[in-house]
Formats: sequence, C-alpha cells, structure tokens
Amino acid sequence: MQIVFLMKQSNTNVNFENSIAFAQEMDAHDPLKKFRDRFYFPKQNDKDAIYFCGNSLGLQPKKVRELVEQELKDWETLGVEGHLKGKNPWYYYHHFTQEKLARLVGAQKEEVIAMNSLTVNLQLMLVSFFRPHGKRCKILLERGAFPSDQYAVQSQLKLHGLDPQKDFLELEPRVGELNLRTEDILSYIKNHGEEIALVMFGGVNYYTGQFFDLEKITTAAHESGAMCGFDLAHAVGNVPLKLHQWNVDFAVWCSYKYLNSGPGGVGGAFVHKHHGNNPEIPRLSGWWGHDEENRFKMEKDYHVMKGAAGWQLSNAPVLPMAIHAASLEIFEEAGIEILREKSLLLTGYLEFLLKETIKTALPELKILTPENPQERGCQISILTGENGKHLHEKLTQHGVMADWRNPNVIRVAPVPLYNCFEDVYRFVEILKS
Ligand SMILES: *Cc1c(COP(=O)(O)O)cnc(C)c1O
Repeated sequence: MQIVFLMKQSNTNVNFENSIAFAQEMDAHDPLKKFRDRFYFPKQNDKDAIYFCGNSLGLQPKKVRELVEQELKDWETLGVEGHLKGKNPWYYYHHFTQEKLARLVGAQKEEVIAMNSLTVNLQLMLVSFFRPHGKRCKILLERGAFPSDQYAVQSQLKLHGLDPQKDFLELEPRVGELNLRTEDILSYIKNHGEEIALVMFGGVNYYTGQFFDLEKITTAAHESGAMCGFDLAHAVGNVPLKLHQWNVDFAVWCSYKYLNSGPGGVGGAFVHKHHGNNPEIPRLSGWWGHDEENRFKMEKDYHVMKGAAGWQLSNAPVLPMAIHAASLEIFEEAGIEILREKSLLLTGYLEFLLKETIKTALPELKILTPENPQERGCQISILTGENGKHLHEKLTQHGVMADWRNPNVIRVAPVPLYNCFEDVYRFVEILKS
C-alpha cells in the first residue's frame, strides 16, 4: 500500500506543500523510513546533524561493527588459517559482494568485482580499454570531470606518447547553458567519431549533479567505433543502472559515497562479459587475477580468471570489504528501484522549496542541477552569489552538513536511505533565516 503511494506520487505531479506538516505526513507514509535508524548520525551542537553529504561520505551503518568484529575475531583465533577456515574464508572474500554489486549496477555476477580504489581501477581499465591507433587516439569527457579522472586520463595519454591537451576532448554545454544536452553529446560523438578512441564520462557529474543518458552515449560511442566507460562514483547506489544491457564496456566506482562503506573504502569495477572472458585483452596483472583453483601452485604460466575478477592484482583487504558487505546488505534489503522512487520525491521536494525561497528571499541563488528528474540523482547543486562560502559556514553553524565546492557551489544530497522530508524542510528553513 505504502509503496503504491510513493510510486503513484512520483509518476504524477505531486502537490508539494511548504509546511512542516506536509513533510511529516510524507515521512509517515515512507516505506523506507525504518532504514534511517540503521545509521549513525554525526552530531552538531549536541543534536543529530541534518546530513546532506552522503555524496561525499555516506554515513556509517550500525551493522558494520559486527561484520568487522567477525573478521577480527577470526584473525584473533585462527591466524593464517582464517584464509580457508574463517566463517567467511578470506581467500574467497571478493566473491561475497559480487552478487549484490551486480544487482546494484545491472550486471551479471562475473562482470563485477570489488577491489582497490576508484582511481586505481580507472587506471587499470584505461590500460585495457584505451587502445589508440592512428587517428583514433582521443578520449572524450564531459567538461569539468572530477580532477582525479582528468589526471588519470592525461597520464594515460602521455603513456601512449599522445598529447595530454590536444588529445583530451572536453565537451562543454552550449553558451549560456549550465548542462550538456544529450542530443549535443550524441551529435558530437557522431561528428568526431573517427578520432575518438574512448568516451569516458562521469555517470553523474560530481559538481553539477547531471545524470547522463549512459545507454545512448554508449550506443553512440560504439556506432562511431569507440569504446565507452563510465566513472560511477556519484551514480552507484544513487540511480538504477543497467550496465550489462546498455553494453557499457567498463565502469568503475568507489564505495564510500552513496554506498556507505567508509572513508577510503574498497572500490569496484565492471567489465562487460564481451571483454571479461577474453584473456587476450591487455591488462596489468597480479596473482589475484590468476585462476583461483591453481593460484597456489605458484607456477610461472599465467592463467587469467574469467570476468572482472581477472583484473584483480592483490588479495582482498578483508576489513574494508567487511564494511562494504554490511552496507550492501542494506541496499539488498531496500532495493534500488524503491530507493529511486523516494529519491525522486525527496529531491523534487528540495527543488520545490528552493525555488520558492529563491523567488521570495534569496534571488542571488540559482540551481545548477538539471530540472528534469531523469537527468539527476539525489543531488541539487546550488550556485551561490559572492558570499557563498559565508552562507555555507552559517549553515554548518546551524546544524546542516552540506558540501562546499570551489568556486561557488553548495551541494545538497538528500539520500533516500537515511534522509527524510523533514530534513529537507528544516534545511530550507535554516537557509532562509
Ligand atoms: C569521489 C570521486 C573520485 C575519488 O577517487 P578515489 O580514487 O576514490 O580517491 C574519483 N572520481 C570521481 C568522479 C569521484 O566522484
């Protein structure tokens, strides 16, 4: 019943109201409300903060401690034998998150792997999937991609003796517009097709919050003969994905943002089956990518594992992986589709209140994130005027944890797992005052 309530609301135009009673009414009908209590909230002035930084560092699930302690206990009592005799044998630890990750990103189990951290995974994927030849030697990104991605791409271009400026293509919005239009992305790929070796976008841009049409971009890249991969740092756990079906070649992500797996938590990668089962694809290798059953024969011949697991270098860091497993259980229980339903409403409500506030009280503010709900996740970026930094400090003093990004943006991310409509209402009230 309650789920139907939510679904219906987001498919039609909800008549949002600017009142605490309305926000509380929405919360009362929220089928996901029990999940808020599964997380620890940081304190601000002795009260739970209004936490809107889940796009930067997700909150700690209370369950984490238990799963980490299980591994500490096995280490304590079993020592090295924990590799095979632990409750969750460490030797196979990377398998324990595969199914849940696959469901989150719309992949088959063998197409995903939790390993390393995001930028490391991006470099590994670039080694395999950026294969410039002749004129086809450029990489296309959206303008203002996350700096780490830009550095990784520049370094790969240099590695191939290419020009880190000339061969680095950045697609900009039209003059006077804040975000890219899908039609412009597609026509750019088509018109410059023969020089692009790889299209590599952020799935959701970290700064603007724009969620790109990954399926259409992938198809356009393939039609022009290029590879296509995505950095899903801000997409995974935020929006439903269908990486397998969309034919994406590769993707990478981190787990400490929407996936709540702790600071510096273990990252992830997707490699489409077309490539994952091809041992000939060039890659950087290590023993954990070697066929599991014969790994300990310690032989010189390298037999790569099938699937994304074949890109592993090292044995899995069990403690961060235990945190990751605890967090993924929550996603499994909630389900990304229903999370998205709530997210559309929650972000829609934030936008509604912000627009009113901009009209009546704060005309110097402007919303940077696309208006179309299909083109954004659960983040709204607010362009501030001159004293944006001061405004952000004031918010912090009043118990709001939102994120400041230079030069002039406050990013606000109401996360459907643990944020509620009342958080959004109270935040806008504080902003106004
Ligand atoms: C957060 C983020 C990163 C961070 O990279 P790490 O390797 O995890 O430090 C990289 N790229 C994007 C798009 C991000 O949002």
